[in-house]
Amino acid sequence: MKKVLLITALALFTSGLLSQDLSYYLPQDVEYNPAIPKPADIIGHEVGEWHVTHDKLVQYMETLARESSRISLENRGETFEGRPLLLLTITSEENHENLEEIRQQHVRITEADLSNAALEEMPVVIYQGFSIHGNEPSGANAGMAYAYYLAAAQGEEIEAMLGNTIILMDPSFNPDGLQRFAYWANTNRSMHLNPDNNDREYHEVWPGGRTNHYWFDLNRDWLPAQLPESRARIKTYHRWMPNVLTDHHEMSTNATFFFQPGVPSRVHPLTPSENQRLTREISKFHAAALDRIGSLYFTEERYDDYYYGKGSTYPDVNGGIGILFEQASARGHIQETDNGLLSFPFAIRNQFSTAMSTFKAANELRTDLLTYQRNFYKNNRLEASIGRSRAIIFGDNQDAARTWHLAEILNRHKITFHELSSDLTLGNKRYRKGSAYVVPLNQKNNRLIKAMFEKRTSFKDSLFYDISAWSFPLAFNMDHSELRSMSAAGAEVTELEMPAGAIDDQSTYAYLFEWGEYYAPRALNKILEKDIRVKIAKSPFTIDGNQFEYGTVLIPVQNQEMSAGEIYDLLSQIADEDHLRIHSVSTGLTQGIDLGSSEFKRIKKPKVALIVGKGIRSYDAGEIWHLFDTRYNMRITKIDLDYLVETDLSEYTDIILPGTRGKTGLTDQVAEKLQAWTNEGGQLIGYRNAVKWLEEKSFMEVHFRQDTLVAKNISFGEKSKFKGAQETGGAIFNTRIDRSHPINYGYKNNTLPVFRNSNVYLEPDKNSFNNPIRYTASPLLSGYISEENLKLLKNSVPFKSAKLGKGRVTIFTDNTNFRAFWYGTNKLLMNAIFFDQMM
Ligand SMILES: [Zn+2]
Repeated sequence: MKKVLLITALALFTSGLLSQDLSYYLPQDVEYNPAIPKPADIIGHEVGEWHVTHDKLVQYMETLARESSRISLENRGETFEGRPLLLLTITSEENHENLEEIRQQHVRITEADLSNAALEEMPVVIYQGFSIHGNEPSGANAGMAYAYYLAAAQGEEIEAMLGNTIILMDPSFNPDGLQRFAYWANTNRSMHLNPDNNDREYHEVWPGGRTNHYWFDLNRDWLPAQLPESRARIKTYHRWMPNVLTDHHEMSTNATFFFQPGVPSRVHPLTPSENQRLTREISKFHAAALDRIGSLYFTEERYDDYYYGKGSTYPDVNGGIGILFEQASARGHIQETDNGLLSFPFAIRNQFSTAMSTFKAANELRTDLLTYQRNFYKNNRLEASIGRSRAIIFGDNQDAARTWHLAEILNRHKITFHELSSDLTLGNKRYRKGSAYVVPLNQKNNRLIKAMFEKRTSFKDSLFYDISAWSFPLAFNMDHSELRSMSAAGAEVTELEMPAGAIDDQSTYAYLFEWGEYYAPRALNKILEKDIRVKIAKSPFTIDGNQFEYGTVLIPVQNQEMSAGEIYDLLSQIADEDHLRIHSVSTGLTQGIDLGSSEFKRIKKPKVALIVGKGIRSYDAGEIWHLFDTRYNMRITKIDLDYLVETDLSEYTDIILPGTRGKTGLTDQVAEKLQAWTNEGGQLIGYRNAVKWLEEKSFMEVHFRQDTLVAKNISFGEKSKFKGAQETGGAIFNTRIDRSHPINYGYKNNTLPVFRNSNVYLEPDKNSFNNPIRYTASPLLSGYISEENLKLLKNSVPFKSAKLGKGRVTIFTDNTNFRAFWYGTNKLLMNAIFFDQMM
């Protein structure tokens, strides 16, 4: 009996924590407008009782916008799963009436040297965003209480604050992830809440709700801007130029609460020290808010302000202040932790409180923040007018589409650039008009340009929360040079149009196109899907005065299932859709290999599978899925490790094993299954640390270079720093490539920058022709690597391919598809897929 009572008491207690009504979050010393609906009136449960699904979140925000004259709502696009990307603009009714005028005046701060008196009159602009990681949902759930407060609170204080502030509220930075996690947490919730950490509720299935639809970490995409969610945000950012941007996250369950400033020695050098001073000023408001409700917190540890592709760092190079919040995660509804029971409402209340303290801080520091923003751009303009380099030119004379994609990123960040006025040769680099752009450094965003183009190899600290290098011309493998004047510049680009393709007149003999163009694999796949016979040139040749490189695609007209007319129509369409230049020829006679030569190799239509599931890094798998599905329009079958062993693999020509995480799922049965399939003629492509598993299971003979570092004079207290310094968190290295090897077809230079964030080092083969990609003797181009690891890397190889039975095993130690913006090495994977028979 006693036991029953105790259980009932615990049940009441734990469910009590979850049935908090709105007053648990809200300030109680103000009146609330009864005409404004509370979240529970619309979504059917209290905030924190269940995890709000994205559709219900939308429903509530739409209701608020309808009912409150302080709130307007816009939909800025949609996610891959078709969910709206909402933005609420929240300010006084009066400001709403002149909103466009206020916006234009605000943006003028970044363009003109406004007086202090002018700044005094202006509202401050804050951009508050929630739960960019979908399984860190306390932010998005707190957003409902916060939006309610902003809509419903009455009195002079709130009126005055709203009069002085424009709040841009992004209720869910990652709708698809939020939805995925809400489904998980809600479907596993017990009626009698169970705080036992072992409960399934707290152990999400792969890939979890952190990422977006294609499993990308959206909080790394603020600078590359490759994903729809980021693109909507960046547009809002530059439309408004906010003074403060906040990014509400969650961290591990046993932690407390973090707010910036982060680790002082790990601030990017392009971020002004005044930015950190203001961050510190703002932090006092967060501290006071959390002190008031008794919540523990920490600052200046663990998190940094380095990589500008994060939400809390991107503003720092754009005249604003970015703030990161991290709340210990209940990862469900309630969990036992080192700090006692951690309930979802408790997490939500901390997020609510810091959203409120941001609003308050921005108000109190309004003129400081506006002055800082003015001075940031004033200093930028000053810096831009000095220095010997006046511009940067970039372009690939054989790949207008890839060049365009880099220009597109600049365009999204409102960096201005020009056409090239006429073809230009600088040293060994040739820039072609129409396939190159000139970026003047004398413009307001010159600091951002620096952040995107610079190469950096010396650092104050050897620890990085994320990557240490992201130089865009290297990521794109793009020729680029500094210019001393703007004399090569043509008209400023105001409408950035994707370069058009072209095709010659119809031929009765053959068509040719070069493999160097970014979308050539997409075109080739379309042609193969129509069962048209295609051959690939193993050597360069010249025909009709045009030179063709390794890997040129040959489509003979005769003896195909399609008629000459149908082939021409298809290729015309492909030239247009895939931005290619397709040549028609009327003779097979060339200088070099003739078109009937056996140096042209027939290739077959691939059918590709991708191994996914527990044990695989979902980021790596998602990047590959996204690349095939959205860039090259190629079907790729995701096969989960759960059922791989029972699957008939015989139809697949290629199977990709992405980077792994632990060894769960990679059983001996999986190894046997893949070995049998490879022996029968398939190609298995392994990435990063999967290489170690492939070696262990005898798929391939690989010799690793091992690091033999031992700690000398390193104390226990310095251990984690010592170990951290040996991590290559992400840096860029130079390789020398053998262009005659099929893995390198389509590359016009003899060197290729690659991105590396692994510690796997391969000895080169003793036969040089088996080392088509090899790190140079001084490979570091940009980013941090320890001296010891650099020694291991020098002259090692990131790629290897060898026969296994009738099939082949191909390995890459580096990520060729990193975060959807590493355009420069995407072709390596495509070459492995299409040209493995030629290796
Ligand atoms: Zn996070």
